[in-house]
Amino acid sequence: MAEEPRIDPWGTVEVKDYKRLMEVFGIKPINTILPLLEKAGMKPSAYMRRGIIFGHRDMDRVLEAKIRGEPVAVLTGFMPSGRFHFGHKLTVDQLIYYQNSGFKIFVALADAEAVIVRRIPRREAIRIAVEEYVANMIALGLDPDKTEFYFQTNRGAPYYRLLQLFAGKVTAAEMEAIYGDLTPAKVMAALTQAADILHVELEEYGGYKHVVVPVGADQDPHLRLTRDLADRMGGIISLERPASTYHKMQRGLDGVKMSSSRPDSTIFLTDPLNEAKRKLMKALTGGRATAEEQRRLGGVPESCTVYDMHMYHLMGDEELAKIYRDCRSGAMLCGECKLLAWSKMKDLLERHQQRLEEAREVAWSIVDAPRF
Ligand code: SF4
Repeated sequence: MAEEPRIDPWGTVEVKDYKRLMEVFGIKPINTILPLLEKAGMKPSAYMRRGIIFGHRDMDRVLEAKIRGEPVAVLTGFMPSGRFHFGHKLTVDQLIYYQNSGFKIFVALADAEAVIVRRIPRREAIRIAVEEYVANMIALGLDPDKTEFYFQTNRGAPYYRLLQLFAGKVTAAEMEAIYGDLTPAKVMAALTQAADILHVELEEYGGYKHVVVPVGADQDPHLRLTRDLADRMGGIISLERPASTYHKMQRGLDGVKMSSSRPDSTIFLTDPLNEAKRKLMKALTGGRATAEEQRRLGGVPESCTVYDMHMYHLMGDEELAKIYRDCRSGAMLCGECKLLAWSKMKDLLERHQQRLEEAREVAWSIVDAPRF
């Protein structure tokens, strides 16, 4: 029998074989929830229609609960370790989609993880969390009045009680089977993430609710651990297994994993316009070696990071379909296509950066930042 694929949620290797991930770990195709979405009064998001969100676990259960009128929520977390970029926007767009559909939103600011796993100085992690993550989320349109942002290290006794209970419910061998090699810091970070996902069901944080966690495929180990822990808490406290949806991470502009630590692999939403344009214009494309060849053979949008930008962030369905056709047929060359992407991105960044200053002030006023 083939070995289970091992995914390292802290690593730099991307998950590529989504089909195998779904088969091995029982992730269902996202199109299986479409009839329920409609019954719940929701339309499939662009990310769902485009196959970027490709799978789910138990999302049908959450939608059934919503249809019955029970409370539903979304939880996500951001590790404050760098600047906010288009890869982060993918998750925030999903939060806004759920917020507009009546889900309560919880955002964990993973300062504990930033300090113990990434060794970011505490004060710096707190500043990045507020000024980069919370502010950019608000500027993108997340409603701060309907969102609960919290710092892991400031979440209170019931949250930490839960974390400690979890530590007694899992063995080192089980964690190694899920994560591979572990350090004490990673064990702590993994159990803290489980507490993030499950604590919102406690009375102190609003009580019983159905929770979905939208994640990139590489974060699935955290979901598997958390679901097991929820099952093992019977007799102590009743916790519902969380649901999850899975998205394909956007590739970096150089064709490998997008990361704040390689600034040219991504565009930050705070990049000056000339800097953003410079990065976009030198991004890796699926174009041919010469213009003549491209007109004759067409380009390959599936290998193109500019097409990714069009698809993830910039274009409506019809415009996207036209770009795909014109690329494939050779009717459009990469220079023209990049300028088309830039015209949309420029508007997006200008609007966003205008909103950001006010959003930063709001961000500091709504978070309870740890004092040390
Ligand atoms: S024409 Fe556009 S989509 Fe096609 S390879 Fe070039 S940049 Fe990419």
